[in-house]
Amino acid sequence: MAYDVNNVFAKILRGEMPAERVYEDDHVLAIKDIHPKAPTHVLVLPKGPYTSLMDFSIRATVEEMGYFFQTITKIAERLGLNDKGFRLVSNIGADAGQIVPHFHVHLLGGKQLGSMAGDSDS
Ligand code: AMP
Repeated sequence: MAYDVNNVFAKILRGEMPAERVYEDDHVLAIKDIHPKAPTHVLVLPKGPYTSLMDFSIRATVEEMGYFFQTITKIAERLGLNDKGFRLVSNIGADAGQIVPHFHVHLLGGKQLGSMAGDSDS
C-alpha cells in the first residue's frame, strides 16, 4: 500500500490539524486518542511515512525501530503506567480494523483492561 500523504496523522504531523500532544521529539509523536478506550489512551507514531507495523518493520532501519520502541516505554513511564502495567496494540490492515494508514501504536492503561485485546467474541 502506498503511503497516503493526506491521512489524518500526516496532517497532524505537518501541523495542519490539531491534536493533544503528550510527547514529541525529532522522530516520534504521541497524541491523545480522540475516542479514548481507557483513562490513558495515547497513540504513538513515528514521524516517517510508514503505513503500518509491517511497512515499518520492512523499510525502517534497525536503529529507527529500536528508538521507536524505546521511546514508547519512555512515554509509558512518563505517563506513570509502569507500576500497574499497560497494553500496546497496533492494528494492521482491514481485518484488524486499521482506520488511519500511518503506523501507530495504541498505548492503553489506567484501568484493568481485561484479558482480551479486542471486543469481538471470535
Ligand atoms: P486504528 O487505525 O484502528 O488503529 O485507529 C486509529 C485511532 O485513531 C482511533 O482510535 C481513533 O479514535 C484515532 N483518531 C482518529 N483521528 C484522530 C485525531 N484527529 N486525533 C486523535 N486520534 C484520532
